[in-house]
Amino acid sequence: MIKEIPFLDLGETYSEIKGELDESYHRVMNSGWYILGAEVEKFEEEYASYCGSNFCVGVANGLDALSLSLLACGIEPGDEVIVPSNTYIATWLAVTNIGAIPIPVEPDDKTYNIDVTLLESSITSRTRAIIPVHLYGQPANIDQINQIACRFELKVIEDGAQAHGAKIDNVRLGCHGDAVAWSFYPGKNLGAFGDGGAVTTNSKEIYNRLKTLRNYGSKVKYRNEECGSNSRLDPLQAAFLSVKLKFLDEWNHRRSLIAHSYLTQLNNDRILLPFVPDNLEPVWHLFVVQSENRDLLQESLKKDGISTLIHYPIPPHKQRAYSSLGFDSSVFPKASLIANQILSLPIGPHLSSEDSFRVIEAVNKFQ
Ligand SMILES: *Cc1c(COP(=O)(O)O)cnc(C)c1O
Repeated sequence: MIKEIPFLDLGETYSEIKGELDESYHRVMNSGWYILGAEVEKFEEEYASYCGSNFCVGVANGLDALSLSLLACGIEPGDEVIVPSNTYIATWLAVTNIGAIPIPVEPDDKTYNIDVTLLESSITSRTRAIIPVHLYGQPANIDQINQIACRFELKVIEDGAQAHGAKIDNVRLGCHGDAVAWSFYPGKNLGAFGDGGAVTTNSKEIYNRLKTLRNYGSKVKYRNEECGSNSRLDPLQAAFLSVKLKFLDEWNHRRSLIAHSYLTQLNNDRILLPFVPDNLEPVWHLFVVQSENRDLLQESLKKDGISTLIHYPIPPHKQRAYSSLGFDSSVFPKASLIANQILSLPIGPHLSSEDSFRVIEAVNKFQ
């Protein structure tokens, strides 16, 4: 029997730092304080400092981080918000959940991130914001996005859910746009042991609105300024995240070593490797290859005991959830093509070099 290589092993993370995590668990449980408070504030300060941003607000999950950021930036029902056609559906849901209209823009062929050359032609008099997604852990072309946003007076809300620690020209993501929305879903590069999210920003105004919005629209208890939501980062998760944040760079480094072996040792003509522009330092949330024979490749790897996933098999515009938006299935051909051809290989801080070597051998022999 060959040993199975899982796509990602979250249990290994717990094993590696069990002592510190268990200590945090006992500290929070013994504190008698279970909503917001010192643990959440401590993590918010640490994460803002890690990202080089002035402020951080912990929220319940990545989806809320996005939709509350849109609200905090003043986006209203009926406003148009530019989103990638190639992203996880949460990016779109954040827009539609607040009654705004997602305007999809196709990705660049090489980076899979939003194609900035297509941005201007998608802007109308009703456009208010752009949500670039730093997909698979690789930063989008934020400098050019910011320039266009500035010219058209648009807000930029970055979806950083897959890119904790990624750098552009040696500067970490965290305050390039007006706000950055983060998810701490367990499988992300910085993941909690349950749901969690945050927003980082340099704007005091956005920060203050987010603090109100996440807590029933209230700053002072039982005084409600607006109709907010209940979207608070759990103190237990905040305590776990404080521990894990200390290991984020090390774990991202291990991912980059695996990515480096993949990039240098995968050599199958039928498989396209990820492309990284010189000024970017991705954090390899996913290692995505492309093949016209994707399904056969996935099956062949499965036979060799290697688990792979597809991120994502159906683009948002083709989801039944968005049938009401009336997109014809022939629109956004790039997003559709990518969905049919991409495959995510195993990568993570606990994938051994033997296992990554087995992945390389299995991919190289595929024909
Ligand atoms: C995970 C993810 C989200 C949503 O995060 P949750 O914490 O699961 O709500 C949003 N955008 C992208 C690109 C993601 O990968």
